[in-house]
Amino acid sequence: MQKVDIAIVGGGIVGLSLASALTQTELSVAVINDGNITRTVAEQMELRVSAINQSHIDAFNTVGVWQHVPADRRCEFTRMHVWDKDSFGEISFDCNDTHRPALGSIIENQVFINGLAEYLQTQSQVHIVNAKISKVLAGQQETMLMLDNDEDFACKLLVGADGANSFVRKQCQFPMTFHDYGQLALVANVRTQQSHGFTARQVFTPTGPLALLPTFDEHVCSIVWSQDTENAEQLLQLNKADFSNQLTAASDSALGLLQVEGDIAHFPLIMQCARTWARDGAVIIGDAAHTIHPLAGQGANLGIEDAFSLAKTIETLQRTGKDYSRLRYLRPFERERKTQATKMIAAMSGFQSLFSGNDPIKKFIRGTGLVMTDRLSFIKQQWMAEASSF
Ligand SMILES: Cc1cc2nc3c(=O)[nH]c(=O)nc-3n(C[C@H](O)[C@H](O)[C@H](O)COP(=O)(O)OP(=O)(O)OC[C@H]3O[C@@H](n4cnc5c(N)ncnc54)[C@H](O)[C@@H]3O)c2cc1C
Repeated sequence: MQKVDIAIVGGGIVGLSLASALTQTELSVAVINDGNITRTVAEQMELRVSAINQSHIDAFNTVGVWQHVPADRRCEFTRMHVWDKDSFGEISFDCNDTHRPALGSIIENQVFINGLAEYLQTQSQVHIVNAKISKVLAGQQETMLMLDNDEDFACKLLVGADGANSFVRKQCQFPMTFHDYGQLALVANVRTQQSHGFTARQVFTPTGPLALLPTFDEHVCSIVWSQDTENAEQLLQLNKADFSNQLTAASDSALGLLQVEGDIAHFPLIMQCARTWARDGAVIIGDAAHTIHPLAGQGANLGIEDAFSLAKTIETLQRTGKDYSRLRYLRPFERERKTQATKMIAAMSGFQSLFSGNDPIKKFIRGTGLVMTDRLSFIKQQWMAEASSF
């Protein structure tokens, strides 16, 4: 049996972010993932991308991770433009307002994961294991992990970063709250007639929001089109030309004609939030603890923030001679992160409800609200500070 201080189950963006933050300590870490973490990406854009906030990029830069993420596969975006299709409301954000070079970076999930893994391979205290965890046995001082490759581990602290269907969460019997948004997210890459101009765009339509995220190719955007399930299923029946026409219309032709390239993927949108995140010897983070609506593109950012906050908690407890695996010391972490996740979930639900449907009062509120917020620079600054701190 191998012994490590921290065993992280899940080598997605969140698990690897935690492992990279822990390289600033002297603790030994195992990252256990069911399958190869890295894979070679094709020349064409991958389907799954994330908008990573600038404050997180700054933190990854400090650790030495961002240098492993190829510059020609990411898109630093400098503006955001959000508008309501059915009212006069619109709002824009510019990086100059934040005195930073960009608002964030749009990056393919696999490219980011490859960069994180490449950095971790240079760190001798981190051991990456390709196996599925099959059993968790909680002891007094240690937690035992049985893996399907017969390699077993004992750790002081087990971290479940194993995604929305988290095995660790189920083993720990952490209860969950669910809400089905009744929508599917349609994800595709589209060629745009006009340059995206390094601007992230989002339009709210009565049947759901459409995000157009700029990519490393100035004429390709990654779209996330959240639609009520019935509409989404009808859209998925269309051929690519008809789907592209519907998409162009939904985007108000903001980038001219749009043409889908490659496959269209779809994901059911479900909110989940664990009511308990920690117990003696175990804690969950990222999608294992919460999944949110992608309309603000904050799911991975929320998980990265969990990872950074947990690494900081562990480092402080270790430095002050406290046992970082005990629930009583993990409680403040749990409280703080649960509050942030709950705030974000409530904000997403509020936005989703305000921006859906044709109710004239809602239309008036969102039109006036967006215009006022756009004009009142102090409120806008507050919004931006709040969004970039996740
Ligand atoms: C359509 C869509 C668009 C999105 N866009 C954005 C965006 O723009 N910005 C943003 O911040 N977020 C976005 N998100 C959310 C974001 O993709 C997720 O929040 C994030 O990828 C979750 O990362 P994770 O590491 O927690 O989980 P995952 O990515 O699910 O990783 C979990 C890992 O654990 C491994 N694993 C699972 N079970 C086991 C086991 N038993 N043993 C060993 N390993 C195991 C899996 O193989 C996987 O590698 C979007 C989500 C959707 C659906």
